[in-house]
Amino acid sequence: MSTEPRTLDGPLLSAEELHKSFGPTPALDGASFSIRRGEVVAIMGPSGSGKSTLLHCLAGIVPPDSGTITYAGRNLTALTDAHRSALRRSEFGFVFQFGQLVPELSCVENVALPLRLAGTRRKEAHRVAKEWLERLEVSDVGHKRPGEVSGGQGQRVAVARSLVTTPKVVFADEPTGALDSYNGERVMQLLTDAARETHAAVVLVTHEARVAAYSDREVVVRDGQVRDMAGVG
Ligand code: ADP
Repeated sequence: MSTEPRTLDGPLLSAEELHKSFGPTPALDGASFSIRRGEVVAIMGPSGSGKSTLLHCLAGIVPPDSGTITYAGRNLTALTDAHRSALRRSEFGFVFQFGQLVPELSCVENVALPLRLAGTRRKEAHRVAKEWLERLEVSDVGHKRPGEVSGGQGQRVAVARSLVTTPKVVFADEPTGALDSYNGERVMQLLTDAARETHAAVVLVTHEARVAAYSDREVVVRDGQVRDMAGVG
């Protein structure tokens, strides 16, 4: 299997006919999905329909039982674990529902962490991290630990961390699920503005139409399968 990028015109990331079961429960049952460079796609659907499992498979975190995932022309499923982890660190960013910041580190250290893991020197990593905190309107909490900031501030820090390496794809799993509507909307605005500016694609899992409204396109997952919004009555 070639590991060379094939084309810049096709989808940046795609999944074909993914199947994934946890014990007897099928979480994905022939799910297909694709996203282009710079596109923001909302994955919607009821709880338990397979949205998070699809996101985890697309990000190379959970291996599907069958099916293919292609990223920039490379077969993600065929890569070694080490190669997949390296790819995740350099090309992907992540935002989860509850921030998942490292509690022992300050906010600026949290944002700098992906750069530090990629080998950037501390001073430079902190400089870039501070720029991102400013952009996410939380430069004032840089020195604080995650336990000392509000939910909305923490989630902005998490968004800054997801973008600090200027990834090609940001995976956001219910990024506003723990926020009130004002902070939720603001976080979505900041995330999608920054993603559009840096040409990052965003795979956004949400069950809220208000949040999905920030996307370019919506798909719905039902019973482990993906349907285009246009085809859902
Ligand atoms: P959603 O994100 O739409 O709520 P999930 O992808 O989390 O759905 O879950 C789809 C199905 O797979 C559910 O029935 C869920 O209970 C099951 N599932 C997901 N992850 C696991 C896991 N790690 N172990 C066991 N079952 C799981």
